[in-house]
Amino acid sequence: MIADVVIAGGGLAGAAAAADLARAGKNVTLIERETGPTHKICGEFLSSEAQASLARIGFDVGSLGGHKITALDLACGAGIITTKLPFEGLGITRYALDEALLAHAAGCGATVLRGRNISKVVAAREISLELTNQPAMDARTLFLATGKHEVRGLRRDASPPDDLVGYKMYFQLSNPAQAALAGKIALILFKDGYAGLQMVEHDQANLCLLTSRARVQKTAGKWPALLADLCLDSPYLARILPGATELLDQPLTIYRVPYGYIHHPLAADHPDIFRLGDQAGVIPSFTGDGMAIALHSAARAASMFLAGETAAAYHQRLSHDITSQIHRAGWLYRAASAPLSQGVLFKLMQAWPASLQLAARLTRVPPRARLHH
Ligand SMILES: Cc1cc2nc3c(=O)[nH]c(=O)nc-3n(C[C@H](O)[C@H](O)[C@H](O)COP(=O)(O)OP(=O)(O)OC[C@H]3O[C@@H](n4cnc5c(N)ncnc54)[C@H](O)[C@@H]3O)c2cc1C
Repeated sequence: MIADVVIAGGGLAGAAAAADLARAGKNVTLIERETGPTHKICGEFLSSEAQASLARIGFDVGSLGGHKITALDLACGAGIITTKLPFEGLGITRYALDEALLAHAAGCGATVLRGRNISKVVAAREISLELTNQPAMDARTLFLATGKHEVRGLRRDASPPDDLVGYKMYFQLSNPAQAALAGKIALILFKDGYAGLQMVEHDQANLCLLTSRARVQKTAGKWPALLADLCLDSPYLARILPGATELLDQPLTIYRVPYGYIHHPLAADHPDIFRLGDQAGVIPSFTGDGMAIALHSAARAASMFLAGETAAAYHQRLSHDITSQIHRAGWLYRAASAPLSQGVLFKLMQAWPASLQLAARLTRVPPRARLHH
């Protein structure tokens, strides 16, 4: 039997597309390899466009009890700039959000298959999905939404940097630290990267950071030593973390994220394979807009598929929607992380705090591209 539409991956992009297609009456099957909720490496800042995309498919993110974020602390060395954000974000764990969105997709009528790993895709006239220890499945149309994970047969043509390592840890902060962080996201610049720190639901704090392999080697790959080393670089972190309790046994880690990647349609692309989320474009994570792009790509792919358009037309349109946003984020990231320009940029922003709001606005999915219905 050949399925009409199979969605590979049940993260935000896959689950949102499944909900959208099922609401339109399509027969859609989603395959997710995890059997239940999992932690994902993510700063967990859900921007306002991401919240609007969720509302568009009838998903009430407010019911999950996240932490409202309306202001930004940008910290560099001993300096801090505090400014209002030009929109309201939400701190919400992926553990809760992804699971609730998958349940929503199933509630909309999508068939959600858990605990199945797609080991390979063979894209000939029909699309065949090989599953680990399960019979293969055939599909007429595939939405590829496996996030950062490559699937054999459909690898992204990306060249990720080898020198950056990402970490995520949850903390129970001291009461004064919680009060200092209430309603804010802190972006903390280091010599070799940055951290995002914010509250999420249940009064927990998410610290998500990118640092260099050199620092990881210097601290022998030991998380406590790495954190102590970062506190030497950042008075902001050194002030917030004393008295905090770590809530995971080990931090989550990530390597080789292909920041700046955008899938441009190629002649060799299969006409019925739509790439969503991180499989379509990867924005530097300090912007807190990767989830918005994932949800936007899902909405764009679903609406173009329902209108009978090809995957090539969709990829053309999506790259038009997100390319300038991703490029601007890349320039900002390079300027904010290079030792020479970091200080200059910070001084400029201190002199002109409105530039931070402008930067926040320019690194969103552009309003002209957003789907409202
Ligand atoms: C360090 C860091 C911090 C970030 N911080 C933020 C932030 O604060 N705000 C923000 O908006 N974005 C942030 N992002 C970006 C955001 O996390 C991603 O853009 C987003 O998760 C992409 O969603 P997705 O649905 O494409 O992929 P994912 O959320 O990764 O989902 C992919 C799903 O596919 C499943 N899967 C993978 N392979 C297979 C397979 N072979 N078979 C079956 N299932 C499979 C996985 O289990 C997973 O559930 C951050 C990213 C990084 C790296």
